[in-house]
Amino acid sequence: MAKEADDLGIRVLKSVFGFSQFRPYQEDIIKAICRGEDVFAVMPTGGGKSLCYQFPAVTLKGVCVVISPLLSLMKDQVDSARETGLRAATINSTTSASDYGKALGAMQRDELDLLYISPERFNSPGFTEKLLENNISFFAIDEAHCISEWGHQFRPDYLELGRIAKLFPDAPIAAFTATATDRVAADIKSRLGLRHPFEIRASFDRPNLDYTVQRKDDLNRQLLDFLKTADGQPGIIYRGTRKKVEETAEMLKKHGIAALPYHAGMTAPQRDRVQESFTYDRIQVVVATIAFGMGIDKPNVRFVIHGDLPKNIEGYYQETGRAGRDGAPARCLLLFGYQDVVLQNSFIEQYEDPRTREVTREQLKQMIRYAESDECRRKAILRYFGEEYPSENCGHCDFCRGAIKHIDATVDAQKALSAMQRTGNRFGIGHLVDILVGAKTERIRKFAHDRLPTYGVGKDKPRKYWHFLFNALVCKGAARMRPDTDYPIPQTSEAGAEILRGRGTFELIDFEPTETKRRAPKKTRVRGAKRDGVPKERGVIPDDSDLFDLLRTRRTELAAAKRMPPYRIFSDSTLLEMAERKPMTRDELLEVSGVGEYKMKRYGQDFLDVIAEYIAESPDGEDLS
Ligand code: ADP
Ligand code: ZN
Repeated sequence: MAKEADDLGIRVLKSVFGFSQFRPYQEDIIKAICRGEDVFAVMPTGGGKSLCYQFPAVTLKGVCVVISPLLSLMKDQVDSARETGLRAATINSTTSASDYGKALGAMQRDELDLLYISPERFNSPGFTEKLLENNISFFAIDEAHCISEWGHQFRPDYLELGRIAKLFPDAPIAAFTATATDRVAADIKSRLGLRHPFEIRASFDRPNLDYTVQRKDDLNRQLLDFLKTADGQPGIIYRGTRKKVEETAEMLKKHGIAALPYHAGMTAPQRDRVQESFTYDRIQVVVATIAFGMGIDKPNVRFVIHGDLPKNIEGYYQETGRAGRDGAPARCLLLFGYQDVVLQNSFIEQYEDPRTREVTREQLKQMIRYAESDECRRKAILRYFGEEYPSENCGHCDFCRGAIKHIDATVDAQKALSAMQRTGNRFGIGHLVDILVGAKTERIRKFAHDRLPTYGVGKDKPRKYWHFLFNALVCKGAARMRPDTDYPIPQTSEAGAEILRGRGTFELIDFEPTETKRRAPKKTRVRGAKRDGVPKERGVIPDDSDLFDLLRTRRTELAAAKRMPPYRIFSDSTLLEMAERKPMTRDELLEVSGVGEYKMKRYGQDFLDVIAEYIAESPDGEDLS
């Protein structure tokens, strides 16, 4: 009996949603709702929360009422649900009287699976009475942490949702959040009045994300090199300030990359335009401050780069978490420089409140520890959330690829410290670097620094390297910024003096070098080749990237004609699977994850045509066995 029910579940999953497997916990949650139990589920972004309520909304009698905090998210959810063939409507402050009437009518005739509403709407006079006249299957509360003052997005309107359990005692409540702290969890359960809820706390691991840290030594070049490997696919570059955001966006544009800036200094309509262009794949890159975040529901963000050091791990996790929500591989790159640490430290010192100073200082330390980490990045991140990553090698971070090496930089440190000391600890890093690389500047001549024994001893390395090293010396205590002047002037410390005397050592991390190649030449690639047991490909570049490109182009055309975001037609992971399996018939196409019957009808033939054409024109004859 149970087996039959499971088979039925998989059939609905496939035919309606197009997926062949549940993600972790989805099935348990769906079953609990169908049993009539309340649910409290903590799942990371991209974990697939929507399916947990959309599925029972389809199978249960009556309408599922979804409460969601943001208009933009709600609109996107409703459009996506409709594009999957679900009967969904929304009622919010922007709904016209006629749409309102239509939604209510559909609900009364039992022709609606999902009704999305804002909390304000739920609280508006007379609305719950309207709901009471209908058959409500259950309530789904999205972003449930908005009910807690301890959450980072408290919404007073959410407090009233506590009335649901009293007004609708027979309708289960399913609450979803990606916020994990115990305090917020306790608030959600008690304020919503959940009745012995079925609880799920999914892992915060995002297995499809690849984490890498690189030495930030030449930001612009590094960004451009990375973008060469991105194959035109969309991504976000975070920068620390509005000014830096503008600069980087400008720089990218100059190099022919479709990029736009996004920060809180722009007007709301300007920001909306940027977000929309990004959603519709009309631009490739958004360069943003952390103001860009709330409400980005774009599932096909293929990379997130941090050009400056994030303030804490939690923020880093949230921001990188915007990559790869569709489950296809995505890359997270942190460009780490000690100059950022020096800068952030100087900000921290300006906080008046000692407690704030202490907390932010500790958070910064954790961030540095992460960057300099001597272990798997994933392990480090998950430990921060109280989770122990079970495997030795995650296969998708620079550490596990064996790319991180500690190198002995003692001799270089001695050169740098010596330049500092021989000039009386009176010059800034820029000038000290000039001395080491043997620059011929006005100041060097003026102070006769070209006669120092250290002049030119660092010629063999680029200026950027020495900048990095000087800042590393400061951050690791071999030098410190002079407290008696407002200028950033380093002086050797006791530990530095020891290094100079040959009694101490200085280590640096040699990070993975920036990738510069778009992809390996086609001929030399071996299908599914592995290197040291680690999957070879790192981005979303499938074996058949040409076909993938063609499929993406087709998707963009179809989406443009319908004025909707491309990802809503098929996700990147669905296109990837198509490129790999090359289905030739409708039945074969239906086997691809993400292709349900509704989408098959609307778009199936378009994509089959692309594949057929590709195979026909393929010069070396595809192996179709
Ligand atoms: P969340 O709200 O938890 O951030 P979503 O509900 O938006 O996540 O789902 C993230 C992505 O995962 C969506 O593109 C969705 O279509 C996809 N997805 C959800 N469940 C499955 C599944 N069982 N198999 C494959 N893809 C899935
Ligand atoms: Zn790892």
